[in-house]
Amino acid sequence: MTPGRPVPPPLAQIISPTSDGGRLAAAYGATSADSGLVPLTVNRREPQVDDVEIDIQFCGLCHSDVHATRGEWGERPYPLVPGHEIVGTVRRTGAGVSDFAVGDRVGVGCIVDSCRECESCRNGLEQYCERGMTGTYGARDRRNGDVTTQGGYATSVVVDKRYVLRVPESLDPAAAAPLLCAGITTFSPLRHFDVEPGDVVGVVGLGGLGHMAVKLAKAMGARVVVFTTSAAKESAAVELGADLVVLSRDAEAMAAQDRSIDVIIDTVAAPHDLTPYFGALRLDGALYQLGLPAEPMPPVEPRALLRRRVSYTASAIGGIAETQEMLDFCAEHGVASDIEVVAATQLNEAYQRMVAGDVKYRFVLDTSTLQAPAEEANA
Ligand code: NAP
Ligand code: ZN
Ligand code: ZN
Repeated sequence: MTPGRPVPPPLAQIISPTSDGGRLAAAYGATSADSGLVPLTVNRREPQVDDVEIDIQFCGLCHSDVHATRGEWGERPYPLVPGHEIVGTVRRTGAGVSDFAVGDRVGVGCIVDSCRECESCRNGLEQYCERGMTGTYGARDRRNGDVTTQGGYATSVVVDKRYVLRVPESLDPAAAAPLLCAGITTFSPLRHFDVEPGDVVGVVGLGGLGHMAVKLAKAMGARVVVFTTSAAKESAAVELGADLVVLSRDAEAMAAQDRSIDVIIDTVAAPHDLTPYFGALRLDGALYQLGLPAEPMPPVEPRALLRRRVSYTASAIGGIAETQEMLDFCAEHGVASDIEVVAATQLNEAYQRMVAGDVKYRFVLDTSTLQAPAEEANA
């Protein structure tokens, strides 16, 4: 798909009204679990002293956006504008902002606030904030009048400077957008396991997260084994850098991987049996589960872990400092996402294709296809 004509004017519904005026942003979001995505207008707050106002250029479509807007993780506040893979340029800054200037290329990922005081926050692990991080959409924004945060399928956003990332100019802005979630979510566990040149990394599921895991693990010098349910993705996986591709529904091929892998990054968005993957791990290997399926996973049998002291763990996105480290690493190694740019009118079709596994490998919304609101909220 290529970007189409601008969408019709947004509905009159204005969400997240603020008392201080602010600026209207054209957006797309869900009004209920089964509404699909429809045009909306978001009222962004007037930038406060530490705020950065960003004109959004591109926003990646994460499978989490599908889960959240469709209510697959439980009841959500509606209307809900998804999007946490945001790249744009600085439009205005508050008086307390000196690190960002108008025109700078910046990004926003999954976190727009946290308590800033707990042990996790002090250690740059805001995603594990003991009081709960404030997600980029669908979260209660405690520091800003308790409004519900609204994400990046929009023309602008206002975010505290502490949660704004610098996007290196050498990266293509559209291809950099998915780094803000898919990139950091796979970079963080690879770093946590201390992946080194020569290690063998398994990647389960070749979607948005999975293809980034392949690229990042290769850039770290690892040998990469891709596990996929899609025979059609075999040659594409090799093109991405995979050294070996295993069809996960082929029991014999799975058994042949016995004790060959150091760490597995599992990105599958649906319930699946992990036993064959534990069997592929070496002594002291680890499986990081990143996917959050809407339905329960099959139970894990302790014996499958015990035989080789395997760790079964999970990992949530990454902290702000680590996200900046990942962006700089990607610029240094020429790593970015393989994308398909879509217009606002193509978002619902893109969701359907994502659920069907028909994407190489990340859809990215071109926000210039959203209709710019004609007026300022405080005009
Ligand atoms: P995606 O682009 O849709 O990729 C998921 C991949 O999983 C598919 O391409 C497919 O790969 C594989 N898969 C196998 N069976 C599937 C099935 N029945 N339904 C769907 N996928 C299936 O999704 P994504 O954006 O990478 O996100 C993956 C998961 O990670 C989601 O659950 C998302 O919510 C979660 N997530 C977690 C975090 C975190 O912090 N932990 C952050 C972001 C996203 P093959 O065709 O190769 O089998
Ligand atoms: Zn995401
Ligand atoms: Zn905290």
